Amino acid sequence: MQGNTHIIGGIAASLAFAQVSQDNPLLLVGAGMVGALLPDICHGGSKIGKAFPLTSKLVNTLFGHRSFTHSILFVLLVAMLLQAINPYKAISEGILIGIASHILLDMGTKKGVKLFFPWSMSVRLPLTTKTGSKVEKILAVLFILLSLYLSYELLLKIMGTF
Ligand SMILES: [Zn+2]
Repeated sequence: MQGNTHIIGGIAASLAFAQVSQDNPLLLVGAGMVGALLPDICHGGSKIGKAFPLTSKLVNTLFGHRSFTHSILFVLLVAMLLQAINPYKAISEGILIGIASHILLDMGTKKGVKLFFPWSMSVRLPLTTKTGSKVEKILAVLFILLSLYLSYELLLKIMGTF
């Protein structure tokens, strides 16, 4: 999936989590956007790959595309790292939700992801689409609508607490 789809997917996922969490929604969503871009560090042409070309090249050479950084192992390692270095729960949760939303979206592409890396089997959803396809664009619009709705709900909830 494309970077913009991942960003809006990460926003929708963290907004959904914000409905049931007591954490600061802005922190959650901001971290969710970062997390949603993180897995594509394995791909030099991605937004984050362009921002960190050397790291991206290294990760791509070591693991290839959509393998380690799109796996359960990666989620667990990032969770442990955040636990060790980051005292802000909302940021940690947002990043992990963003990563999870990214992996899930890429599972909706024909190529799938190496979810159980280092095991090399590709995992994908029963329904898939091509990156950049019309279906992906429709999906992005649906995520935008969902995000607007969730923001509205959240706003009502926040205003209700005053
Ligand atoms: Zn990806």
